[in-house]
Amino acid sequence: MSTVSKYVIGNWKMQARYDQGIQLARDIASGLASLPPLPVQTVICPSYTQLHGVHTVLEKDRLTPQQLALGAQDCYPTPSGPFTGDISAQMLADLGVKYVILGHSERRQNHQETDAIVRQKVKAATAAGLVPVVCVGEHLTERNEGRAASVLAQQIEGSLTRDFKGLLAYEPVWAIGSGVMPSRKELVHKIRLIQALLPMHLMADDVDTPILYGGSVTSAQALPILSVPGLGGVLVGSASLQAKSFLEIIKAAA
Ligand code: PEP
Repeated sequence: MSTVSKYVIGNWKMQARYDQGIQLARDIASGLASLPPLPVQTVICPSYTQLHGVHTVLEKDRLTPQQLALGAQDCYPTPSGPFTGDISAQMLADLGVKYVILGHSERRQNHQETDAIVRQKVKAATAAGLVPVVCVGEHLTERNEGRAASVLAQQIEGSLTRDFKGLLAYEPVWAIGSGVMPSRKELVHKIRLIQALLPMHLMADDVDTPILYGGSVTSAQALPILSVPGLGGVLVGSASLQAKSFLEIIKAAA
């Protein structure tokens, strides 16, 4: 779906206060501006309250969205209405947002988001012109009981529309924020599995959905992870909150 070879997406979660987020965006933007153009699509996903401020930073640094784009961490499944406290995909697009993370395990867990809700959000995001980044991944017990493949199949079928145009992030729940990661062998196997599952669900003859990995990625492990065959990039939580480590991951993806 794009000419970039890898994606590096930073998920800031609810971690940085306003000023810290703006400074982080400045540091990432100036770090990227000092490098030659890389074949990497970098996306940073601050909290809602930082979106406008971070967008202003990116515009000042004159970085094209192709180099450094703005993403959000969620959106509401319908375009407008009496939904107190919610934010629609179009409202995000109005702020210069290009990507939106959907179905993150923290939202599935803390906000009871089902696959059906995630799929509604995918439709809303796509209608507003955003690129959905849909997260799937098994829990530790599901993995240990040998049910990861069926969980992934169910999440892919339930969360993605048949005409899905976006990114898929494989984020084993047990690897998020834990410092633990799948072995290379396991990751190779899971990426192959997802590559086989996608064409069974998507309508397109030629499925070119980039598959990202997320879960405890650090600058030290970025290179070996990004060399896993078929991997289209990484979704990074904690290590995206430090400009230095995030820039090292971006360089590893180049
Ligand atoms: C995430 O929550 O999407 C994530 C990948 O977090 P971390 O890198 O901190 O495990």
